[in-house]
Amino acid sequence: MKCFVCDFEYDGKECPKCKFPEVVVPFGSDREASLKAMKQTVEKYRNEFAKKIKAELMVYNYDVTDKIVYQGEERCTLGKVNLLMSKVTWLDTEFTNVITRENLPITLNVSIEEQAEYQITVNIKNIPSDTLRVGISMDSGLNFSFIIKDAAGNSVRSDMFPIVQ
Ligand SMILES: [Zn+2]
Repeated sequence: MKCFVCDFEYDGKECPKCKFPEVVVPFGSDREASLKAMKQTVEKYRNEFAKKIKAELMVYNYDVTDKIVYQGEERCTLGKVNLLMSKVTWLDTEFTNVITRENLPITLNVSIEEQAEYQITVNIKNIPSDTLRVGISMDSGLNFSFIIKDAAGNSVRSDMFPIVQ
């Protein structure tokens, strides 16, 4: 089944990611009422769970003065996911962009308490600008998209992805 709280697909008595128990919602006329009654509980649980998720953006630095030289990666903390929900959060820093690349890979590091950290890499259509800013847009569930923008205000947004994977 699909977890009501975090959308993770699993088999068993509780979600392995957020620990929300399996809920069997009846079909038929009671279904709507049951889902409605559960909505508040799910939202409350989701907000509590989001406090346990830490997100970081991986930034790959390049020196592009004469030729492109990879300068290593850097982790930029975005903080706890409950503070990122229902809005767009921009990183303060501007990044040096390799303008010849058609797509820009952006990686999110996710850790949920003691569970193993994992990475989600999203390819976003590049903007041919020497520097870019990166933001993350989250809905009130646990789905996100990345946004990049240049100094002139051009921006590109990626598809939405679940943060719990
Ligand atoms: Zn879950």
